[in-house]
Amino acid sequence: MTDIICKPGPVGKAAEAFLSAKTHKMLIDGQWVTSASEETFETLDPATGRAIGHIQRGNAADIAEAVKSARGALDSGPWPAMTPLERSQLLWRIADIMEANIDELAELETLDQGKALYVGRWAEIPGAINQFRYFSGMATKIEGSTIPTSINYQPEGKEVFAYTQKVPVGVVGAIVPWNSPLVLTAMKLAPALAAGCAIVLKPSEDTSLTAIRLLQLMQDAGLPDGVINLVTGYGHEAGAALAAHMDVDKLTFTGSTATGRKILDASKGNLKRVTLELGGKSPVIIMPDADLDAAIPGAANAIFFNGGQVCIAGSRLYAHRSVYDNVIDGVAQAATQIKLGHGLDEATQMGPLVSAKHAAKVATYVADSKKDGASIICGGETAGDNHSFVLPTVVADAEAGSSIMQEEVFGPVLVVTPFDDFDEVVRAANDSPYGLAAGIWTEGLSNAMRLAGRIKAGTTWINSHAMYDASLPIGGMKQSGFGRDSGQVALDNYLDLKTVCAII
Ligand code: NAD
Repeated sequence: MTDIICKPGPVGKAAEAFLSAKTHKMLIDGQWVTSASEETFETLDPATGRAIGHIQRGNAADIAEAVKSARGALDSGPWPAMTPLERSQLLWRIADIMEANIDELAELETLDQGKALYVGRWAEIPGAINQFRYFSGMATKIEGSTIPTSINYQPEGKEVFAYTQKVPVGVVGAIVPWNSPLVLTAMKLAPALAAGCAIVLKPSEDTSLTAIRLLQLMQDAGLPDGVINLVTGYGHEAGAALAAHMDVDKLTFTGSTATGRKILDASKGNLKRVTLELGGKSPVIIMPDADLDAAIPGAANAIFFNGGQVCIAGSRLYAHRSVYDNVIDGVAQAATQIKLGHGLDEATQMGPLVSAKHAAKVATYVADSKKDGASIICGGETAGDNHSFVLPTVVADAEAGSSIMQEEVFGPVLVVTPFDDFDEVVRAANDSPYGLAAGIWTEGLSNAMRLAGRIKAGTTWINSHAMYDASLPIGGMKQSGFGRDSGQVALDNYLDLKTVCAII
């Protein structure tokens, strides 16, 4: 078994002070409270399996209190009276205060989730901060329109004057997963605050720490009581109660497709508006004219970044047969050179997966593919004291219909397949229940544009992968969900439209 150093590096004084609380509370109506049941559960450092804190086990009773608090903050008090400019300034202050505490946030994210420190410190936490800055600008630009009508039955001498107004959708339930907790949370909170909504946030039971710290920082930035309420706990308890609550107007969910279906079912009671950001099985295509010096490391990074625990991970690589041997050698070489270790060790390029349980599930996909006749070029095993690491893995010769080709593995596992012509690769890329993202590597403009047009994916990158910005809408087609986070369109998730028609 590969030797992996699982000793955590040191954390700074701020993270140490946060962790010293040992038991972390939930935020309801501006107060840090224990759960109604007074039960807690451990959150673990996945690299070592060591408990790093206790989290409140919120349930339906806590969700009910949190929703009541959000409704109160929406209907009265300082929040509805704040001007758009004041909301904008609050969002900017939140970004400033996150920036001032960026090292602490990155360290907590690494300890709780496992990711290599650089992933949080240089990509995800800055990405979260940018969400607040981007939507700070949107708070002052929520506009309706005046509408010329053709109504001709108004009383003699009168006119019709009609206009639309965009208003906050109401109380928002936000449920997020464990793979990139803080940035995915920011993608929900920033536009919802810009729109003037009140929120109940339910982070993943595996990674609640940065949500708790973020809410503390938001209070310091001047967030009025009740505008965001935080209920920690399990999905089937707190999450399910939030999805079903009859006084929640909107649910914004990021997570697996299986849970997305449950969320839709649970939302039926009061016909909540729902946005679903779900799983993916994204194709990456290397055309014969690609710049292989860029495409090979690019394709490796598309799957191995954050241990492959990325919804848009490029997990299916299609290489033109003329470059297939070079590509498979190149990605396998990249995989074996990745340095695994505790995320807090500065030398670490890939940390553990979120839990030993998840690592075992990922390794099972690889073992099953081998039984089905696939070739394991490298990796495939779990590693580390706690078996929470999975060695970066490259698989070849997998059948198109096999589970490793069709299901979301959500780990550092790349399946490489050759292709011969354009139509064949379009068919192969679209042979998936998912439609979240795609990557295309080619020096030819026509191929790039034609492929981008024919692949069913919410986002397509050309000669790159996973280039994110708060301005770029992200979300899925097919069973990857519906609705978009980020970008101007995301604001509409949190707004409702009123039409006013007057006789004047
Ligand atoms: P998950 O679906 O298991 O859990 C996500 C969240 O839902 C957690 O907070 C969980 O507690 C909660 N939950 C679980 N059961 C619930 C229920 N019955 N009712 C309400 N809430 C419930 O997903 P995960 O394993 O935490 O995250 C990984 C998944 O997230 C992957 O499928 C990944 O592709 C997806 N993801 C998608 C995007 C995107 O933008 N499309 C981004 C990141 C992750």
